[in-house]
Amino acid sequence: MGAGRFAPSPTSDLHLGNLRTALLAWLFARHTGRRFLVRIEDLDTARVAHDPAVARRQLADLRAIGVDCDGDVLRQSERLEAYADAVTRLSEDPGTYPCFCTRREIAEAVSAPHAPPGAYPGTCRHLTTVERAARGSQRNPALRVRGGDVVVEVVDEFAGPIRGPVDDFVLRRNDGAYAYNLAVVVDDVAQGVDQVVRGDDLLTSSPRQAWLTERLGGRVPHYAHVPLVVNAQGRRLAKRDGAVTLAALTARGVDGAAVRSLLAASLGLAEAGEPVTMTDLLARFDPAALPRTPWVWDDAVAGSTP
Ligand code: GLU
Repeated sequence: MGAGRFAPSPTSDLHLGNLRTALLAWLFARHTGRRFLVRIEDLDTARVAHDPAVARRQLADLRAIGVDCDGDVLRQSERLEAYADAVTRLSEDPGTYPCFCTRREIAEAVSAPHAPPGAYPGTCRHLTTVERAARGSQRNPALRVRGGDVVVEVVDEFAGPIRGPVDDFVLRRNDGAYAYNLAVVVDDVAQGVDQVVRGDDLLTSSPRQAWLTERLGGRVPHYAHVPLVVNAQGRRLAKRDGAVTLAALTARGVDGAAVRSLLAASLGLAEAGEPVTMTDLLARFDPAALPRTPWVWDDAVAGSTP
């Protein structure tokens, strides 16, 4: 049996956008008879100090709206050995190399024609041993995989076929932390995840991740990148947009069940204000009928919602 998952980074409390994506990931998994896993992506410890209470609140908030999961919650901070093994394997095939470039150097480098913005131009790909030693005395390198600039197509539930080039992307950053693209794929493969439902801001990462999945001997998952929740100005919802976390909403009298109703209504799965159970939602769930555009959360209007 395959699995779907929700994989929050424990940087701050989940907001309505994250909760809505989690609800959709749960519905997609259960609707297709898959297991549903939750993974805490707490890898970024060098840049962000993770308060363990945040992950605990995220898990409690998921439960409060009815999103349950199977098995133990996996934490990426406990998986460093698996990432190291994957790096060793990739270093053998297709190969990796140290990269000394700063962000600025990458931004200023002349990219290959048709390369997408942000794609690595290959500056450090052919450095000699002597050049590497010289640059290494100045700066810790990141580690990049040789992506070969192949173009990979994935098929997304909503966006359809998406083609993207696989540049030499980072596996390990120059502060020693494993990169998101590596960890997410290593874990999805290890956990038998064959359905990835997440915000559509990650759509462009999927060709690289699909490619890496195959390099690591996994099967490319089914992708569904769901529209984000935006504020009244059309920008991606953030905490500064008012009462957008479950704690803040509960303080206004909108508890877990009411938030579930609110999210269900935004997905066309309930009437406004209608109480619904997860079983109701599962029975009503039809991926083809889901809204294809971002949900606009206007706190000024929603503030009066019971
Ligand atoms: N941890 C990522 C995030 O919170 C999600 C990763 C994924 O779903 O692939 O944005």
